Amino acid sequence: LPVLAVVGRPNVGKSTLVNRILGRREAVVEDRPGVTRDRVTYEAEWAGRRFKVVDTGGWEQDVLGIQASVAAQAEFAIETADAVVLVVDATVGVTDTDSAVVKLLRKAGKPVVLCANKVDGPNMEADAAYLWSLGVGEPHPVSALHGRGTGDMLDAVLEALPEAPAQTFGDIVGGPRRIALIGRPNVGKSSLLNKVANEDRVVVDATAGTTRDPVDELVELADKTWRFVDTAGIRRKVHLQGGADYYASLRTAAALEKAEAAVVLIDVTEPISVQDTRIITMAVEAGRALVIAYNKWDTLDEERRYYLEREIEQELVRVRWAPRVNISARTGRHLEKLVPAMETALESWESRVPTGRLNGFLGELVASHPHPVRGGKQPRILFGTQAGTRPPRFVLFASGFLEASYRRFVERRLREEFGFEGTPIQLSVRVRE
Ligand code: GDP
Repeated sequence: LPVLAVVGRPNVGKSTLVNRILGRREAVVEDRPGVTRDRVTYEAEWAGRRFKVVDTGGWEQDVLGIQASVAAQAEFAIETADAVVLVVDATVGVTDTDSAVVKLLRKAGKPVVLCANKVDGPNMEADAAYLWSLGVGEPHPVSALHGRGTGDMLDAVLEALPEAPAQTFGDIVGGPRRIALIGRPNVGKSSLLNKVANEDRVVVDATAGTTRDPVDELVELADKTWRFVDTAGIRRKVHLQGGADYYASLRTAAALEKAEAAVVLIDVTEPISVQDTRIITMAVEAGRALVIAYNKWDTLDEERRYYLEREIEQELVRVRWAPRVNISARTGRHLEKLVPAMETALESWESRVPTGRLNGFLGELVASHPHPVRGGKQPRILFGTQAGTRPPRFVLFASGFLEASYRRFVERRLREEFGFEGTPIQLSVRVRE
């Protein structure tokens, strides 16, 4: 889907506007602590067209100061969005920060829709007219709070957005495989990219037909072409203090959106961190095929190796199914193993279990390992079917509620039976009374 980024200074009403666009009242806030700000992309629909909305307002008012944080938002929007809504506070007027952002956006040739927010009263439309002076076209007077004017603004947004570009994985069949190379800063993403993309092998590909930076790189590996998506962010290395993590996770989400498989890089010289596991979780939740590459293997000594293996046991058991490669982007060690790992993961990701085989397996499983009796009843799996692929999705029909531990058990056994190396699998249960 095309991507719309909402940018602007703090307190101009970005989140309120995002909520308006999504057609809901409640704040854009997740109730799970710690993950609040990973979820910044939402799906929206207007006039029958669907698009993604990115709320860049999650990180601001920090050490960087307003100017830098808004510049960072614009930077991000330029890299990943197809169009931008620039929100200004019509009651405040044009600030230097607003002008600076406009400059950045225009230089990048990004379509901009100007939202003059907080035009709450009936006779205030004219007050927004002076915003023509920003030089990004017509100001759209809006009250995000009350909903006035958002419809007209969204019409302008639809004009600015390209028709859904054939970029999400569902649309393309048979093209080069799309790989997201992700990992926290300094794990070696750009080093790896350079190593696999020798000058003569890499073809820069300006997708989506806009004037923005080339976003993907086509790389020949093992006689095949692979598309590494959203490499602009890796190449450019915008190193921001303070907000770096937040923007890194926005980029990760954007890359995952377009990819079929994720190669997550882990730096073996440092303890596996929350940031590493969070990135892996993002890939799993996005439903992408997954390979984990342990980088900087050239530096590993006995002692560190010992602790590393323990950390992997502790932190990454959940993704034991992901193929693992121990590489060095510096020396080139084992880079040739990346290709079979990606191929295995993608194959599992697209695999399908015939209904007959699945039910033969489920029948035996239920007989040998029945669900525990609860409240005098024993829920049973009656029947199952694979409802989809990329990644494999299963629907189980059961005679009662299946406990989480039993579902996990079923998933484990499914993996033992059918493989699924390198792919998340999704299980849902429907209860038939
Ligand atoms: P990025 O932020 O993920 O793109 O990381 P970079 O590619 O910029 O790498 C960060 C640092 O790690 C740089 O100083 C690299 O030279 C170093 N580095 C990357 N890969 C390796 C490796 O395999 N071995 C060693 N020893 N250093 C590496």
